[in-house]
Amino acid sequence: MPKYGRVKDSHIKVLEDIVGSEKVSTRPEELYCYSRDSTIFKYRPDVVVRPENAAQVSEILKVANEDRIPVTPRGSGTSAAGLPLPVYGGILLDMSSMNKIELIDVENQIAIVQPGVVCDVLNERLREYGFFFPPDPASSPICTIGGMVNTNASGNRTMKYGPTRNYVLWLEVVLANGKIIHTGSKTLKSVSDYDLTRLFVGSEGSLGVVTKVGLKVVPLPESVGTAIFIFDSVDKLVRAATKVRLSGIVPEMLEFMDRRTTSASFDYAGIKDVPEGNFLLLDLGERREAVEPLLEKVVSICNSENPEFVDKTLDLEYRENLIKARKAALPALSRLRPSTAMEDCTVPLTKLPEAAVKVEKIPEDLGVEGFGLGNFGHIGDGNMHPTFVFDEREEEQRKALFKAIDILYQDIVLPLGGSVTAEHGIGLTRAKYVALEHPSTVGLMRSLKRFFDPNLILNPGKGKGGPLSIEEVSS
Ligand SMILES: Cc1cc2nc3c(=O)[nH]c(=O)nc-3n(C[C@H](O)[C@H](O)[C@H](O)COP(=O)(O)OP(=O)(O)OC[C@H]3O[C@@H](n4cnc5c(N)ncnc54)[C@H](O)[C@@H]3O)c2cc1C
Repeated sequence: MPKYGRVKDSHIKVLEDIVGSEKVSTRPEELYCYSRDSTIFKYRPDVVVRPENAAQVSEILKVANEDRIPVTPRGSGTSAAGLPLPVYGGILLDMSSMNKIELIDVENQIAIVQPGVVCDVLNERLREYGFFFPPDPASSPICTIGGMVNTNASGNRTMKYGPTRNYVLWLEVVLANGKIIHTGSKTLKSVSDYDLTRLFVGSEGSLGVVTKVGLKVVPLPESVGTAIFIFDSVDKLVRAATKVRLSGIVPEMLEFMDRRTTSASFDYAGIKDVPEGNFLLLDLGERREAVEPLLEKVVSICNSENPEFVDKTLDLEYRENLIKARKAALPALSRLRPSTAMEDCTVPLTKLPEAAVKVEKIPEDLGVEGFGLGNFGHIGDGNMHPTFVFDEREEEQRKALFKAIDILYQDIVLPLGGSVTAEHGIGLTRAKYVALEHPSTVGLMRSLKRFFDPNLILNPGKGKGGPLSIEEVSS
């Protein structure tokens, strides 16, 4: 383990000089809040700092690099993989004060934003122009663009529009030594540099601190239409979704929730007129005249798997409510048991039915009372979020979680040719599987990390470039 410097009173004084004393906190109650994300892990920083511009970030990093103090950037802390948790303490860099939308230029299809801008806030502004930024994570009401860039976040609309990286044109980044760099180009197309922008996208705060983002934005679809289905088994649901995927029709959303998640989410969203079961949501965004015929077509495709309930709608309020229920899957499941662990995996589309059935059996195979599962996700991309529900205070259930995660990734996902994370990132949860999925490049990833951050100060102890095993970090 690398040896890190301690944060001393003299550092706090320097940090206060850089950002102002009101932007630096060592209050225990604040440090406690920053010790959590949406996982069960807890790591407290020594100090929280809220910079307001790239120059301040640069000064902070120079000080930290000099004395080898860990620095963990943080957006809204919604990570489901321990990404913004300061494993070795040190400075927690809260980027949420840098939240200005600096430019919306729809003629050039460009928006320039600071990293602390919240995804839905940007989309509300873009809607005024008939445009949007398509990656649509279920956490869009709270997660930041900086967090999305650093996880390469995806979401409900990724099936049609692709993940965050497809929209990042350029970045302003502060490197570990304090140097401010600009990657990419201000145009929609350019191949004039190594693709450093893409290297930083999805780097989990481990290669640099993002201080500005140039985004491509696109026009909203002219019209939308939604179909929903209830199936008596996840197997049938997945087969129906796969058939739609292979039909050539590209829905904006193809989302699923298993029976347990559907029941919890409908209860959460107050939806009463849809029967319980395994829920498939299909949303189309098309030209006005194309929506209804395409809805007919997808209904006929899904009917071949004998759904128990089918409905289609052009009603925007009903549609919003259905999407809200799907986005509420995690908070809804978290009302069932004291703890949740939302996992994230993807398998080739043809392996989805097999994977879904095996995942469903994990709690039964473990046989630990109080340990259960809800499954949901972006089925159109082969991306599931098996979410374990349990009580972390019970030793047996806590142990069952790590066993379940091993079964999920080692016994199910990797043998089926899948990936251990589709969108949430490696972080703490999946650190031990990086070498299993990428045996020939894990060394290169660690070398890259050391090239950008020789003192290993940026978000250390996890991620793609410096993972520890989950047992080491959770003990
Ligand atoms: C209910 C719920 C639903 C979710 N649904 C989805 C989903 O559909 N799709 C999806 O992809 N994810 C989803 N997530 C996970 C999470 O919301 C995303 O990973 C999101 O992109 C994180 O954004 P954040 O602002 O909360 O970042 P944080 O969690 O604070 O940080 C995430 C990572 O980004 C780094 N980071 C943040 N800002 C910067 C910066 N300026 N410079 C450098 N590094 C930075 C952090 O160090 C960390 O490594 C969900 C989470 C929850 C709780």
